[in-house]
Amino acid sequence: MRKKIVAGNWKMNYDLAETEMFLVELKKQVFPENVTIMIAPAFTNLNHCFKSLREHPVELVAQNMHQSEDGAFTGEISAKMLKSVGTKYVILGHSERRAFFAEDNAILAEKVNSAIENELTVLFCVGEELKDRKDGNYFEVIKEQLEEGIFHVSETAWERIIIAYEPVWAIGTGETATPQQAQEMHEFIRKTIAENYSKTIAESVSILYGGSVKPDNAAEIFGQKDVDGGLIGGASLNVESFMKIVNAFE
Ligand code: 13P
Repeated sequence: MRKKIVAGNWKMNYDLAETEMFLVELKKQVFPENVTIMIAPAFTNLNHCFKSLREHPVELVAQNMHQSEDGAFTGEISAKMLKSVGTKYVILGHSERRAFFAEDNAILAEKVNSAIENELTVLFCVGEELKDRKDGNYFEVIKEQLEEGIFHVSETAWERIIIAYEPVWAIGTGETATPQQAQEMHEFIRKTIAENYSKTIAESVSILYGGSVKPDNAAEIFGQKDVDGGLIGGASLNVESFMKIVNAFE
């Protein structure tokens, strides 16, 4: 049975006081047992969240990390540092990192290695731009992102990998992929993993959908056979809407 996951990617939102307000509300909630709930606050608030959520079934995710263990990389954060403050997961390859911070597949492959070596679980994002969708070459784009960014890892490393399909044209736009479009791509991703590794591995990997998931569309998207949950941006910033999405599984 694959894990069902709902992860909130807060992006560059919420300072310490705002984070604390969210946590106060979040800790009042009843959490379903069949869903793994994750939040990805800013680096500066990870340790506070870790301490605050110790007794609660909420996992902590970092939004990025540097590929090196340590050294002269002013302003960067390593996998080891993340682990030391209670973070177990890291988002790598988010389209905003690819687009605004020039993270290419080669750098991402190195980041994946460092995360796995440090026993973090990677939420590896892939997604095509609107142009690729219109040109009809979206499967090729996703295949290349997988091949160059993550298909170098060992079979055993797949225990620490979650894939997130986030079509760039659906992020923050209010325009969601249709449940059929999501299912079609998730099935393709699973098939591609099976071809490069094995059917067993492909069947065990959770593949999340991200891009304008909201309380009113989550159930239909999560109801697709190969969709194992969501990576949520805007709608994860409010406890009520986040919990509606968490509870959207059948
Ligand atoms: P939105 O849910 O705001 O579209 O963001 C999706 C996303 O980028 C999650 O990583």
